[in-house]
Amino acid sequence: MESRRDPTLIKTTCCYCGVGCGIEIRRDRWGQLTLTGDPEHPANRGQLCSKGRYLLQVALDRDDRLLYPMWRPRREMPLTRTDWDTALDHVAATFRRLIDRYGPDAVGFYVSGQLLTEEYYVATKLVKGFLGTHNIDSNSRLCMSSAVAGYKLALGDDAPPICYDDIEQSQCILIAGANPAWCHPILFRRIEAHRAAHPEVRLIVVDPRRTQTAAVADLHLQIRPGTDVVLYNALAAYLIANGYIDPDFIAHHTEGFEALCAHLQGATLERAARLCDVPLADLQRAAEWIGRSPALLTLWAMGLNQSTAGVANNLALINLSLIKGQIGRPGMGPFSLTGQPNAMGGREVGALANLLPAHRDLNNPAHRAEVAAFWGVPALSDRPGLTATEMIDALEDGRLKALWIIGTNPALSQPELTRLERAFAHAELVVVQDISSRAATLRWADVVLPAAAWLEKQGTMTNSERRITYLPRLLDPPGEARPDVWILCDFARRMGWGHAFAYRDESEIFDEYVRLTRGTPVDISGVSYARLQCERSVQWPCPAPDHPGTPRLFTDHRFPTPSGRARLHPVPEPEPPEPPSPAFPFILTTGRVRDQWHTRTKTGKVARLNRHTPEPFLEMHPDDAAACGLQDGSVAEITSRTGRLQVRVRLTPDIKRGVVFLPMHWGQETETADGRANVLVPCRVDPISRQPALKFARVQIGPIRRR
Ligand code: SF4
Repeated sequence: MESRRDPTLIKTTCCYCGVGCGIEIRRDRWGQLTLTGDPEHPANRGQLCSKGRYLLQVALDRDDRLLYPMWRPRREMPLTRTDWDTALDHVAATFRRLIDRYGPDAVGFYVSGQLLTEEYYVATKLVKGFLGTHNIDSNSRLCMSSAVAGYKLALGDDAPPICYDDIEQSQCILIAGANPAWCHPILFRRIEAHRAAHPEVRLIVVDPRRTQTAAVADLHLQIRPGTDVVLYNALAAYLIANGYIDPDFIAHHTEGFEALCAHLQGATLERAARLCDVPLADLQRAAEWIGRSPALLTLWAMGLNQSTAGVANNLALINLSLIKGQIGRPGMGPFSLTGQPNAMGGREVGALANLLPAHRDLNNPAHRAEVAAFWGVPALSDRPGLTATEMIDALEDGRLKALWIIGTNPALSQPELTRLERAFAHAELVVVQDISSRAATLRWADVVLPAAAWLEKQGTMTNSERRITYLPRLLDPPGEARPDVWILCDFARRMGWGHAFAYRDESEIFDEYVRLTRGTPVDISGVSYARLQCERSVQWPCPAPDHPGTPRLFTDHRFPTPSGRARLHPVPEPEPPEPPSPAFPFILTTGRVRDQWHTRTKTGKVARLNRHTPEPFLEMHPDDAAACGLQDGSVAEITSRTGRLQVRVRLTPDIKRGVVFLPMHWGQETETADGRANVLVPCRVDPISRQPALKFARVQIGPIRRR
């Protein structure tokens, strides 16, 4: 490891987005720390985006940190300081009482894609193995569960096939429902550098907004929200009709081609142009570029996933790569961009309500028995767990009595926030384990457990391209804050399961998880802390110590399905999430701005980052604003079926008429300034992935009214 050669240097990984950029932190002789991008890291090659550059400032500014446990024995009392024994004994006693009285499904854990893999693993083992329920879900449910389901249905496993180096070998890049110029900036810089060096490489962007990504594309398809399947079905039909497919690959490595062809009858570009509301000539150009390209790379994110048709969107897009036979070779394939730094780690260890560790299947009795035997418990529950939004429903209707929230802020990030307030008010116990007093969810906590933050604990993460890295500990946590694994293991001990959680350190947790991956698609038997400290990173699978890791999957064109073939899916066009209504004439879509991360508990502390977008805003087309009696800078009232918000208007012709955009980062900043976008978004989920449709709400907009 570099830091062994140089004790003044540590190498770690950015804790914001799924790009997973490498970071170097140096300590000078006066003890001052400086942070730079790691020039040797294969993801970022020394570059960092604005958020990453200010990470050290966030880590060293501890004014907002939670320093000691707090509790309130009864709801009507204020939170007061307590000690770890009192707090964890209270939580353990309450969990015991609730489980004895109502059964194990009365308790649940809501965790985060920002946890380290070791933390995710311990939480999963605790909940699924010992509490006896599958009620653990991650906030990753909100960002990538549709991609997980799409990969499984099409490719047979939740297995992103490509690596970042494929960007530099691609010939045509289709970015759908993503704005990597702002949300995955370092990856986008690689795309821009590739295009600068190879002007023949085409970039097509599909987005209802002319984002910073769309602005530099060769072609922007500004589709109507919710028409993605129409578009990809029409493109697939065009590729088939014009011979832009790989018949040999289709015949030997896919199934379902005939059904797909039958389904695509009538899916013309002309029809798609009308329904998607884009010029036919643009669709024809996109279809020709995709068709003729020898290496098509498709990238997507929340615009496809956060939809009631999230899985359908994924399947329709993956069809394009499969009929072209462009997967498993350099420069090509489908690639979902993960939002969070370790969303992939949570998928690997099974920290979601419908998963088991190492991509085992919760519905498979043999898989459940295998994991139970490994953990030394009699059996795992055969009842499905509650997903992120289902847990809130279950709190509200009384099925769920206690919720333990770790490293996530559902009071701002879940849809239909008024529903959360009702649910939390019903709960018997809400535990919030977090680093920051800025987390809005603290308002609902009965017990607050202060956790260690980035640089204050060690562990591993997996980035979007399946690259596992090691993050060392550099700083002591402030006050009485503790690493998340310490808190979970101490709770397990108080529940009487100390024997199964008696780890000496995080490396023992990692080694245990590694043993559980043996023989599975995510086999990392060849990975250890020692190897990661030496080589810096390895891409899974990596089944032996002398295995180099796997940059690219499916290179032999065999897929982990019963037939060994990838599956083509005839994807029906979905109904709109909410029917059109004259009372709510606009479609609201939500998303990120460049310099903020999630609910701003970290980035909101940095003045330089706040300067980029100082306050929430409603992005609106000037024609729509004029029709509503609004001007640039005036305050609009936005009303949906679930709530109301007042936000300043920002006019731009870059958004489609009839569509408006709100960033999702802000909370109720003051009594009068409320930027909680998710107040307006109804809780509707994809029927397969259970991912909420955070990108679609019908709203009415007008000047503020006096009441
Ligand atoms: Fe961090 Fe993502 Fe920026 Fe890289 S691109 S520095 S991982 S936020």
